[in-house]
Amino acid sequence: MLTTLRSIVLEFSQNAELDSALCRMVSQIKQAMNTDCCSIYLADHHKQHFLLMASDGLAESSLGRTTIGFTEGLIGLVGQREEPLNIANAQYHPQFIHAPEVEEDELNAFLGTPIIHQRKMLGILSIQQKQARHFTENEEAFLVTLSAQLAASLANAEVNGVLDRQDTNGHWKKKLQGVAGSSGISMGEMFVVYPQANLTKISLQRSDNTPLEIQRFYDAVIKTRADFEKMTLKLENIITDNALDIFEVYKQLLDNANIGKEVVNKIKTAWTAESALKQVIDSYIIQFEALDDPYLRERGSDIRDLGNRLLLNLQKSNNGTQQLPDKFILVAEEVTASMLAQYQHKGLKGIVSLAGSNNSHAAILARALGVPAIMGIDNIPLSRLHQKEGIIDGYSGELFIQPNEGLQREYQHLIAEENLLADKVKQVEKLPAITRDGQAIELHLNAGLSAGFEHSQNSGALGIGLYRTEIPFMNRSCFPSEAEQTTLYQQVLSAFPKQSVTMRTLDVGGDKSLPYFPINEDNPFLGWRGIRITLDHPEIFLLQVRAMLRANVEQRNLEIMLPMISSIVEVDEATRLINQAYYELSAELTLADGEKLPRPKIGIMIEVPGIIYQLPELASKVDFFSVGSNDLTQYLLAVDRNNARVADLYDSYHPAVLRALNLIAEQSAKSLIPLSLCGELASEPAGALLLLAMGYDKLSMNPHNIAKIKWVIRHVDFKDLKSMLAQVLTLTTTKQVHSYLNEQLEQFGLGGFVRAGM
Ligand code: PEP
Ligand code: MG
Repeated sequence: MLTTLRSIVLEFSQNAELDSALCRMVSQIKQAMNTDCCSIYLADHHKQHFLLMASDGLAESSLGRTTIGFTEGLIGLVGQREEPLNIANAQYHPQFIHAPEVEEDELNAFLGTPIIHQRKMLGILSIQQKQARHFTENEEAFLVTLSAQLAASLANAEVNGVLDRQDTNGHWKKKLQGVAGSSGISMGEMFVVYPQANLTKISLQRSDNTPLEIQRFYDAVIKTRADFEKMTLKLENIITDNALDIFEVYKQLLDNANIGKEVVNKIKTAWTAESALKQVIDSYIIQFEALDDPYLRERGSDIRDLGNRLLLNLQKSNNGTQQLPDKFILVAEEVTASMLAQYQHKGLKGIVSLAGSNNSHAAILARALGVPAIMGIDNIPLSRLHQKEGIIDGYSGELFIQPNEGLQREYQHLIAEENLLADKVKQVEKLPAITRDGQAIELHLNAGLSAGFEHSQNSGALGIGLYRTEIPFMNRSCFPSEAEQTTLYQQVLSAFPKQSVTMRTLDVGGDKSLPYFPINEDNPFLGWRGIRITLDHPEIFLLQVRAMLRANVEQRNLEIMLPMISSIVEVDEATRLINQAYYELSAELTLADGEKLPRPKIGIMIEVPGIIYQLPELASKVDFFSVGSNDLTQYLLAVDRNNARVADLYDSYHPAVLRALNLIAEQSAKSLIPLSLCGELASEPAGALLLLAMGYDKLSMNPHNIAKIKWVIRHVDFKDLKSMLAQVLTLTTTKQVHSYLNEQLEQFGLGGFVRAGM
C-alpha cells in the first residue's frame, strides 16, 4: 500500500499540468481503493466555495462547473470540521444536497477527507461506493495519509498556477510570499544559481526545443561516461575488481537501450533534459524501493547517484553559457554565505532564497551587506524565475515577478522615501547614542565579513561587539593556519585602534558548515555546535586563540567571547585552554623590555536558556556577558531559526523572551558584570529601546543600523522607556507586545520607522 501511495503522490507532483494530474490521480485512487468513484474539489477562498475539479465516477459534464458552498452539503461539512467524514449512506445524511448534474444517485457510501497545507484548506478528496457501508479504518487511514501528502504538492501546483497567471503584457498578477530576511527594496533582473546536482530539487519544466535538449542530454552522457572511465582508472589499484563493477553497470545503464533511451523518449514529449531525467530516475527509484530483496532495494540509491552525476554535467553545460548581468537579484534553492561572498562585488542587489528563514545566517549576512533579502519562499520552480524582472520587498517578504508599470512606480516611490529616511538618520551617525534626558548606551558593530570593513570604520560605532570568526573559515578548502589567522585578526584589530574588538571563537555547526569539516546530524542546532566542537578539538581552538593573542600584541584591544556556552565546565575548560595558549606564547614571543603579552578579557555568550539559572556563578568566572538573542530566542521557544515553516513562531518579542532578557539584565546588574546584546534584536528600534530600558550597557549590530538606532535613542526620554518596559512586561501575547510597541513608537514620533518596516 505504501508503494501505491508513494507512486500516486510522486506522479501527481511530477505532472506539470494540474488538470491532467488531478484526472490521473482520481482514477489511480479509485483503482487502488477498489471503489466506484473518486473526486477532488478545490477550495476557492474568494468565492467561498469548492469547485469539482476532477472525478472518476461523477458526470464528466459537471467537472470544472459544479460548485458547493463552504457551508453546504457533505463536502462543505468535511471542510468545516477539518476532519474525515465516513458515512454508510450519504443520501440519508441531513446535510446531503442533491445535485442532479453530478449523477451520483446510485452512490451511497461516502468518505471525504480535507486537504490542508499549513492550516489552509486547499480542497476535499472523496471516494464513493454503490454498496452502502462504512469504509474500513484502513481505507480511511489510506485516504487521510494520501491527502496529507498531496497537500504540499497541491500547494506547489497553486504557486505554479500563480506563475502562469499573466496579463496580456506578460506581467504576473500575483505576488509570492516569503519571510522578510533583510530589509530594503530591490528591483531588477533575477539570476538563478542552481544547487549542486540534486534531482530532488529539480522543478519540472517544458521545452519547445526538443533537438537541443536531446543534444544536451547526449553531451552529458558522453561526459558522464568519461567521468566513470577516469574514476575506474584512479581506483583500479586501490579497490577490488568487484567493487569497480558498479561503474560498468552505470555505463550500461547509460546506453541507448536503457535509461538513456527512456530519457530521450521523455524529452520528445516536450520536457527539458533535466525534467525528463528526473522523471525517469524517479520512476526507477520507486520500482526499486518497492522490491522485497534488501540488496536490490539498495540499488535504488545507485540509480539516484547515476542520475545526479548526469544532472551535474547537464548543469555544467548550462552554467557555462550563462552571462552574469551587471546588476541582479540572486535566486537559489539555498543562498549560502559563500555564495554571498562570491557574488557580493559582482552586482548583487537582492537575494531570494527558497530555504532558510529570517534568522538564518545567510539572512544575517545579507543584512550585514545591506542587501534586501527574502527567505523561505517554498515551492517556486526556480527555472521560471531566471532572467525575469522582479521586485523584492525585504520589509514584507513579498516577491513580485514581471511587475507592471504601476507597481514599479509605487516601489520606486518607496525606494525614494527609504533613501530620504536613511539620509535623515545619517545626520546623527557620529553623535553619541544618548537619550534626551541623558541616558547613554554604547553601540558596537557586528562584523566578520572582511569585505564589509571599509564601510564599518565610518559607521559611528565604538568598537566591534561581535566579530564572527567562522566566516573567514568558510570560503576555503581547509582550516586556516595560525599565521593566516594572525594576519587576518591583525587587520581587524588595527581597523579599530583604541576601541575594543570582541572576537568570538569558532561557532560552526547549526546552519554554518565548513566544506572541509562536514557534520551531518538530525538536529544540528541541538548538536555539535560552537564551543562543543572546539573543546572536542583543542588543536583547532588553541590555534585560533594563539592567533588572536599574537595579533593583539600591538593593538591590545582584543576581547575573546565563547559561543553556545551551556555549562560551567565548558567555561572552565575553555579558560584553561586560553591560559595554556597565553603561557605558551608568552614563552615563545620576544617582547620589548618589561612588556608582557596583553591578557584579553574573556566573556561568554548567553544563548542557551539553561545558563540563565547560573548567571551569578558564571559572573565570577568571566569578564562580560553578551546575549545572543538569535539563538536564545530559538532555544527558549523551541523554534528552529532556519525553518521558514515555523517563522511565524520565531519572535524575540515573545513575552517569555522579553522576560528572560530582563531577568538577565537584573542578574548581571547584581553581579556587577558588563552586559551587551549582539543578536538582531539590538538593531530594531523597539528592541533597542527596550534593551536600553532594561539596563544593557552595550548593543552590537550590523553597520547599516547604527545611525538609525542612534536617531531613535536620541529622540526619546529614558523615563518614558522605563514605563514602556514596565507595561510590556505585563503583556501576555506576542501580538499584544507588537501592537503596544508600535503605538509607543508612534507616540514618540518615531512612527516613520514602523511604517517603513525598519
Ligand atoms: C546570536 O545567536 O544572537 C548571535 C549573535 O550569534 P549567531 O547569530 O552568529 O548565532
Ligand atoms: Mg548564536
